[in-house]
Amino acid sequence: MLTGSCLCGDIAFEIDGPLDLIAHCHCSMCRKFHGAAFATYTGAAPEHFHWRQGEDKVVHYRSSANGWRNFCPRCGAAVPACPEGGPFAAVPLGNVAEDPGIRPSSHWFVGSKAPWHDIPDDVPRHDTYPPEFAADAVATDFPRRAAATPGATGGSCLCGAVTFEFDGQPELMVNCHCSRCRRAMSAAFATMTMVPADAFRWLSGEDDLVNYKMPEAKVKGTAFCRLCGSQMPRLRTVDQMQIPTGCLDGDPGARPAANIFTASKAAWSVVDERLPGFPDAPV
Ligand SMILES: [Zn+2]
Ligand SMILES: [Zn+2]
Ligand SMILES: [Zn+2]
Repeated sequence: MLTGSCLCGDIAFEIDGPLDLIAHCHCSMCRKFHGAAFATYTGAAPEHFHWRQGEDKVVHYRSSANGWRNFCPRCGAAVPACPEGGPFAAVPLGNVAEDPGIRPSSHWFVGSKAPWHDIPDDVPRHDTYPPEFAADAVATDFPRRAAATPGATGGSCLCGAVTFEFDGQPELMVNCHCSRCRRAMSAAFATMTMVPADAFRWLSGEDDLVNYKMPEAKVKGTAFCRLCGSQMPRLRTVDQMQIPTGCLDGDPGARPAANIFTASKAAWSVVDERLPGFPDAPV
């Protein structure tokens, strides 16, 4: 039995049967929705997928003709999507608490991969879907927007309501594997980009932001678009914005400087050993 929940715990689910494959998806929609370098999903047959609580709270955002992105309206974490009559419940693996036993078998939409992420493993890669899915998908950068100010780096949520930009170079980009980041991003790990608060500006949709603060944590919180659930920037300290890098529309130039909290990494996640690594917080 596998169990999972959003970051705040309002929405929880369990899986009491075998999983379908696990795949990493690098498409621009997954990156924006999760705010991460890529998303990792598995599938469970409908008869083996059960909501434990909070099903009535789930917000359903229609991201494409047949795509739904479900999220928690309190904390913004992604939660499973179970299309009516569909063969599988699509489960974001970052929200599953236990080791699923099986490991990711492919990378999807590598043709749309973030420029700041290097894939560290030998798992088979596909530009779009793997051929056995016979989908005539094309790599897409949707929705990519140019920054309003020349030279700035822009970002936005999946639905486009929230847009922002920042000037200059980020102060730091880091991959965090802690269990809170994994549940907040609903992904293998978070890639956070830190920029000075005075270099950052909202361009639209600030009223559509929801901020969630974890009750037991001193600084850990999330911000997300209330309409589409995309992870969004938030003030980390009075003078620093923390940006979930997946929501950027442009290449910020910076690359991850380190992996942190690697002792807490997901069992199925491969840490890029080419970067400096810290088992917990860097000293
Ligand atoms: Zn929640
Ligand atoms: Zn995707
Ligand atoms: Zn949005």
